[in-house]
Amino acid sequence: MNMLKMMLFGLALMWLSACGSPAEPIDSPTQPASAVAPSTASSPTGAVPADSKMPTELSKIRTQIQAALDRYMDAMNRGDETALANIVDQDNLTFKRVQNDFLKSPAYSWKGRNPRGTVTQVQVVREPYVKVWLTETVRGNHIWIFKWSDRGWLVSEPDEEELGARTERETDKFVVRYFEWDEALVDGVVKAVSEAVDAAVANTGRKAVAKFLVRMAPTFQTQSGRSGIGVAASYNSSAKMLSIRSPESFGGTFSGIGAVKSVPDIQHEFTHLLVDEAIAPRGTIWWVNEAFAHYFTDDLRPATVRASLSNKVYSLKDLNQLEVEGGVQQTDLYIRAQGTVAVQYMVEKLGGRDKAWAWLIAEAQIRDFNESFNKVFGVTYDQFEKGWQEFMKQRYGG
Ligand SMILES: [Zn+2]
Repeated sequence: MNMLKMMLFGLALMWLSACGSPAEPIDSPTQPASAVAPSTASSPTGAVPADSKMPTELSKIRTQIQAALDRYMDAMNRGDETALANIVDQDNLTFKRVQNDFLKSPAYSWKGRNPRGTVTQVQVVREPYVKVWLTETVRGNHIWIFKWSDRGWLVSEPDEEELGARTERETDKFVVRYFEWDEALVDGVVKAVSEAVDAAVANTGRKAVAKFLVRMAPTFQTQSGRSGIGVAASYNSSAKMLSIRSPESFGGTFSGIGAVKSVPDIQHEFTHLLVDEAIAPRGTIWWVNEAFAHYFTDDLRPATVRASLSNKVYSLKDLNQLEVEGGVQQTDLYIRAQGTVAVQYMVEKLGGRDKAWAWLIAEAQIRDFNESFNKVFGVTYDQFEKGWQEFMKQRYGG
């Protein structure tokens, strides 16, 4: 769909897509493949005969999984799809797709980054699944699931029917819906959601109108919207639902910090809910929504803004043309970061927090930047654009 059509026939449509909080990619990734340490892929360690039973001794499991992890890291380092297929569960189609996308992702790929992982702890969840705590050299700490198979240990995730019943935990502000698989984590998640809500209310001065749903998924297959590796959480406007990943899962720990990181991610998505409720039943343009969520989560990403400015100083038109559906490109993250500074400019230079929200609400009704800027801030489209670009260069340039 082209942008003009979208603007004419329903900005609300954009709301139906997930507005995930993207993990920040590591800057300037690639070194030439030739500079990379020698491959360990040919190591036979961890290979097992087809009829072998899953080992029971934890130290043995740990040693074998370390060898499997080395092969995974090597495949990722070389960007080798075939080698990756030998160490990733090919029966779980969603997980297989996510891993292939990760391997090729312009923003997140580990190709040429020489990733090295160290298993720090293993825990048998239930045969054939083992939860593995590991630390690696690109993004930090993770919790992954390895599955025992007739091909030895594979990086995997359980199928939906293996996760147990869906159950709910209700508080006075929200309901967390989760799988039995995550039962041991739900107290911590309730605490994280409460903290995120309190922080968002403090930052925005706004509250949720009604009790909302938080859906926690331990696997990519069960994640609402089936979002890719870089999306830690998302908000679905029509369902008034926040979707989060289990803090002990591949997707939930991709940003490297696990449960602690989930507070800002949840706060980001909850801020989308506040935006949604502020302008309901109308919608707003994609970047505005993201910019409010980033700014009011104290997630300005100054390093990304600085890097983006040396790439290009964007215009409001560039921002309006952005909508990220599938894979995240570096440019998308640059545009988003500059959009966030537009909200910072509103708050810090054009009249404060409440005025920024007043503009958001006015713009959703008027749907014309020139008119809404004039009405709320007393500036024209051109004045706003110039003022924001100058502010950005002064604050983050050079
Ligand atoms: Zn978002």
